[in-house]
Amino acid sequence: MADDLVTLDEALAAAHLPALVAAMVHMTGDAGWLRPEWTPTYTPLARNDPGISESEQAKIREAAKAAITAYLAGEPMKLATPDQPLLRRMMDYVGGAPIPERYADFLIDELALSGSSKDPHFEQPRLKEAARKLKVLVIGAGMSGLLTGIRLSQAGIPFEIVESNPDVGGTWLVNTYPGCRVDNANHMYSYSFEPNHAWPQHFSPQPELLKYFRGVADKHDLKKHIRFETTVESLTWDEDRAVWRAQLIGKDGGRETVEANAVVTAVGQLNRPRLPDIEGRDSFQGPAFHSAQWRHDVDLTGKRVAVIGTGASAFQFVPEIAPKVAQLKVFQRTPPWGLPVPHYHEDVPEGMKWLLEHVPYYDKWYRFWLFWMTTEGFLPMVKSDPDWTGPTTAVGEANAALREMAASALAAQVQDRPDLLPHVVPTYPVGGKRAVLDNGVWLGALKRPNVELVTERITRITPTGVVTADGVEHEVDVILYGTGFQASRFLSGLSVKGRGGRDLHEAWAGDARAYLGMTTPGFPNFFIIYGPNTNIVVNGSIIFFSECAVRYIVGALKLMAETGARAMEVKRDVHDAFNIRVDEANKGWAWGSPNVTSWYKNEFGRVSQNWPFGLIDYWRATLAPNPDDFVLEKQAEPVA
Ligand code: NAP
Repeated sequence: MADDLVTLDEALAAAHLPALVAAMVHMTGDAGWLRPEWTPTYTPLARNDPGISESEQAKIREAAKAAITAYLAGEPMKLATPDQPLLRRMMDYVGGAPIPERYADFLIDELALSGSSKDPHFEQPRLKEAARKLKVLVIGAGMSGLLTGIRLSQAGIPFEIVESNPDVGGTWLVNTYPGCRVDNANHMYSYSFEPNHAWPQHFSPQPELLKYFRGVADKHDLKKHIRFETTVESLTWDEDRAVWRAQLIGKDGGRETVEANAVVTAVGQLNRPRLPDIEGRDSFQGPAFHSAQWRHDVDLTGKRVAVIGTGASAFQFVPEIAPKVAQLKVFQRTPPWGLPVPHYHEDVPEGMKWLLEHVPYYDKWYRFWLFWMTTEGFLPMVKSDPDWTGPTTAVGEANAALREMAASALAAQVQDRPDLLPHVVPTYPVGGKRAVLDNGVWLGALKRPNVELVTERITRITPTGVVTADGVEHEVDVILYGTGFQASRFLSGLSVKGRGGRDLHEAWAGDARAYLGMTTPGFPNFFIIYGPNTNIVVNGSIIFFSECAVRYIVGALKLMAETGARAMEVKRDVHDAFNIRVDEANKGWAWGSPNVTSWYKNEFGRVSQNWPFGLIDYWRATLAPNPDDFVLEKQAEPVA
């Protein structure tokens, strides 16, 4: 393709132009590319449109074609690392608005423009030696567990990963329901250090995600560290020796105890399916299963099917099964907010893949754009205004405007079915729960003649169907539960006994809390990834959070190596003060609104899942542990 200018035209036609212009600054060393008339203007629900006139777009492509052609002919790239002021201008340009100064170093790191990461290094021989003497037990070989393995490997710290499944991939291994795909742009939903320029779709299907994580595990040679089909049943802190003793159960039921200086749990928040507490649920005689335990042996063709739940999972599988079943009844308690993403199921054009692979820095600026627009760029629209006196369907003016746009987009889809309209526009504020990406297939499915949206409350399940409050019995052959996960029951099923034999679940009493989502007083050298208050509703990719968390955890191990401490434990007052700040801040967002009920809140009504600050705040807080936050238990001095 390199010399084929026609194909280069095709590649440029598929380009994200602001990212391309930024890449051209690198390629040519000429900041003159950042022309005012080429400055993007994005709108919230049509963010892919850079808002640059067609004629100016043509000029960008023409100029870029000349520069890339010269580069392919051997012209060297001119500017790998622009100076700080120019980088700031490039960020503002691609972001379409001035990006606050406090984001600069964070975004430079996220872009990996400096070429060096902020991950802790163990260069000095003394640290290397100390690292080699540690042993870390990681629970889970999904996205976070694999990442932990990679970073521990790079730090030279011995580790073992225990995984209950027979393969890596976690949620991407387990969720195989029809239509399962990532709902975060793939070029951002990937490790920052393992870009994949070959993602087939902007939001690829589950098998592609699984392939990616398997590929990363192979590339980093992680499998030799993983015990598959093994479960960690309990962890007990040995006070005298400052080690965790883990009780493992293998697939044959065999038990084994292993010891580790530190434990990292990487089990996810959404790994325990939640079946609804509906009377008679177990009396149903036909097949009934949860979306995360999809039974591929049950052929739905020609069947009468009930779907209970209309969250992110049902939103993906209902359009897939609707055409093949005889009759589909979708039982909805609360409609989901859909945000228009017309390219949700579209392939990444070949030209775009080529640019990502061959035009230096294009991939980084494209990721930067995705990151900014879908993360911090979106947050102001879900911020609660304490002085808001408008209806409870919004939490502020910007949120009300977003609601208007999203509601109109939904209404436009049911113009031909006005009976559906009152049932498909949510009454809770946008951002109250995770919004789904809407390219029209959901409402398209609900409009099918063989599909019925049932909004009457379910009162019970019988051997042959579902009964609603209006007394109707909906007879079905199969019941599918898209009813979500027991997200607030952090680490359930794992017994953890810390200092003094204290049980973690008793300490939490159903209200899991941790400092920075990771550490809890009384449980030394115990780190949780994707722990309490590290989830996100509208902003960002959870991989970003895991990368931050793992950096911090490896930093904690480095701190132990540096200080000679054998144990570190977060101070109670630091932990408590952090949690007070978190709870207060969560009230300031749509998801913390008292008018919203969701799985983000636990049984006490506390938002136990979400991080209420900016991504930059998590990044900054987790760059390295502050020694003052911890009690460091020093190694016993050798007796003279
Ligand atoms: P969910 O968002 O928690 O949705 C559960 C659905 O079941 C809701 O509609 C809920 O209604 C309904 N429900 C629960 N109990 C019910 C009952 N007793 N009677 C009637 N309806 C009931 O679960 P999910 O769809 O599995 O998604 C969970 C999370 O997983 C998502 O938010 C997302 O973070 C993640 N996810 C991601 C992807 C992706 O990236 N591709 C895909 C799927 C899931 P209410 O709203 O009224 O409670």
